[in-house]
Amino acid sequence: MGKRWLGLLAAGLLAVGALVVPAAPAMAAPTFKVPFPCGQSWSGQTRTGHSPAYAVDFNRTDDLGDPVVASASGTVDIVRDLGGTSYGKYVRINHGGGYTTYYAHLTGFNVSVGQTVGYGKVIGWVGSTGGSTGPHLHYEQRLNGADIKVRFNGALAYYWGTKTYTSDNGCASSTGSGTVNTNGTALTVRSGPGTGYTAVGTVADGARVTIYCQTSGTSVTGTYGTSTIWDRIGSGRYIADAYVYTGYDGYIPGVPRC
Ligand SMILES: [Zn+2]
Repeated sequence: MGKRWLGLLAAGLLAVGALVVPAAPAMAAPTFKVPFPCGQSWSGQTRTGHSPAYAVDFNRTDDLGDPVVASASGTVDIVRDLGGTSYGKYVRINHGGGYTTYYAHLTGFNVSVGQTVGYGKVIGWVGSTGGSTGPHLHYEQRLNGADIKVRFNGALAYYWGTKTYTSDNGCASSTGSGTVNTNGTALTVRSGPGTGYTAVGTVADGARVTIYCQTSGTSVTGTYGTSTIWDRIGSGRYIADAYVYTGYDGYIPGVPRC
């Protein structure tokens, strides 16, 4: 986790009785990655007159049926077939914070509504359904419903024209690291990703930890807000991510799911 002020804001609201509901704070954008498997290179085209304007159309040779993967972790909230018009078969993933991504003209689906996905998860296959004249992936990033300029690993896509993008989505992962922040008390280490698992030790406030993988477990409210993410810091050793400063609000890019 990375946003201490979320927790402080929540505490502040409780103190004043939450009589006024403030505007939702802006969340950091997810680290979106190229929506194809690790190592693949795809030609991404942007053009004026595209609808919506900032969408990217991806192609490569013989791409019909090639797998399309989730740009970032999130929850699939639309899996729909619009028939011979518009997006045709498309998937939308909700990444939280108002961010969504769209994957259109698919030839088939590999996910269902409500499913949680992470980097590298195949969500469907490149097709030419809907208002498409040939196989390609139509890809969008949106914030609060509005089309936004696409970014991969934080870098703006090329507007306007065609550029080759090489995917590092779901590539062989690495470990992450973080710093425990409990405001003084030691943090309990559990044998699994939840408060119901056996306590197997503690880590001191301020300790630096190596994170081998992350997974979803019981929800914990800590220094950095409320999160269901748990960090595996050793064999059979898990700590709640809500107490760990990792620099990221959600899963750490590149660190695998346990
Ligand atoms: Zn398009």
